[in-house]
Amino acid sequence: MIIFTHHTGEPHGILGAQLAATFFQRKLSIPSIVIGIERSFSKDRLLAFIDDYYKKEERRVAFSHLCGRKDLIELIRALKREGFVTILGGPQAKQDYHGEPGNDSHPHRFRGLKSAVDLACQGPADGFRPDHFGMSDILLEHPWTKEIFLEVDWSNLYTFSESAKKHEVRLGQVLNAIGCPYAGRVQTVSLPPPVELRERGVPVLNVRSEGCVFCDVSRDKGFHGPVERDRVIAQIAGLPEIDGRKIPFELIDEYPLRSLGQLLEEVKHHGMRLSQIHLVCRVDDINGHASDLPEILEKARAQEAKIMFASIGFESFSDRLLQYFCKGITLGDILKCVETLRRLKDRFGNHFLYRRDEGANHGFIRPTPWDDGETMREMDRNIFLHRLFEDILPRHSTPLIIHHGSFLGDWIREIESTTGIAFGRDGTWIEWWNPSDSSLP
Ligand code: SF4
Repeated sequence: MIIFTHHTGEPHGILGAQLAATFFQRKLSIPSIVIGIERSFSKDRLLAFIDDYYKKEERRVAFSHLCGRKDLIELIRALKREGFVTILGGPQAKQDYHGEPGNDSHPHRFRGLKSAVDLACQGPADGFRPDHFGMSDILLEHPWTKEIFLEVDWSNLYTFSESAKKHEVRLGQVLNAIGCPYAGRVQTVSLPPPVELRERGVPVLNVRSEGCVFCDVSRDKGFHGPVERDRVIAQIAGLPEIDGRKIPFELIDEYPLRSLGQLLEEVKHHGMRLSQIHLVCRVDDINGHASDLPEILEKARAQEAKIMFASIGFESFSDRLLQYFCKGITLGDILKCVETLRRLKDRFGNHFLYRRDEGANHGFIRPTPWDDGETMREMDRNIFLHRLFEDILPRHSTPLIIHHGSFLGDWIREIESTTGIAFGRDGTWIEWWNPSDSSLP
């Protein structure tokens, strides 16, 4: 079976899809590979490749991590038309299967993938049993637990642009926590309308959020605790090696620092040699462990391993926008964090990486629906005053993306219901910048 997923073509693995393929292969005896489809690809060549692959295999195909791509949704539909059993897993499988609430009364809303998908699977792949493959028009829901299957065959990934190419994974992923602990932070935020609707009588609305308001992971997955240490060690042991060292890997945990020092010790105890650990984490984790970081970095240096803050969720340099994002941090927290990073860099040099020119790509969301002259000036002033352009600011910011299943999706639908305005849809994403205002006064 092929599991199709979005891929950028960069040398990283795709943990979720590769784990699922490994589960199908090892536990259900279904030979499986993952094909990461790059943004630009030849559809004709892909269909020819699929035809050829399925000469010897049962015609069932899975999709994971669509990344909002309409071309992947179209591929699901095309394969369904050709008689394949189509399976949808990965993030937002349930919401994407059902579509947006109220799509009957609001036909412009995303109508879901029920007509294209035979079997949707919400949760980890280990919920699958062989008899599920014979079912159709069904959503399977399997809970996330700390006991999920965690073996990964890192050699099962291919990418497709003009042809299927074996993908040499140079950056792996190791699961240290199931979901995000911050997703448990329930808050209500008062959100003004997008700037261009400000003068049009659209009200400020209260929106409930768990974790960051724009996050599609928090609602989809929640938080189910840390992965036990021996299972983290087993994942590291399963990573490929280059020149006797494990390939760099991302430690998946928004709060990794509480366990990182101990993890380094146990890795050493097991005789494994690391090259580089990438951390994708929150500002409050760095601030909360600023005094522990020198000791952690000493341990890494002693093992000749590097620690890289590959992506820190700054997201904005305006207190007002941070509050709208429910980010749980202030500009003051961000500046304290940046000061810590710069100090550690002076002390640990090449063993500690966090700068843009060292490969880091920190979170910075812009444009947003609430950008106005005041927030733009405030941000530009802070970026200049604190020299954030030197090391922190990413090459490109990320526009605010509203997946229809996120809390901001609720916000948009409430604006639509209370005003009659309709925002554009682009596949599973909502175009907050594209309101149709025919019903406005
Ligand atoms: S954006 Fe990051 S920190 Fe915020 S809820 Fe999502 S995963 Fe957690």
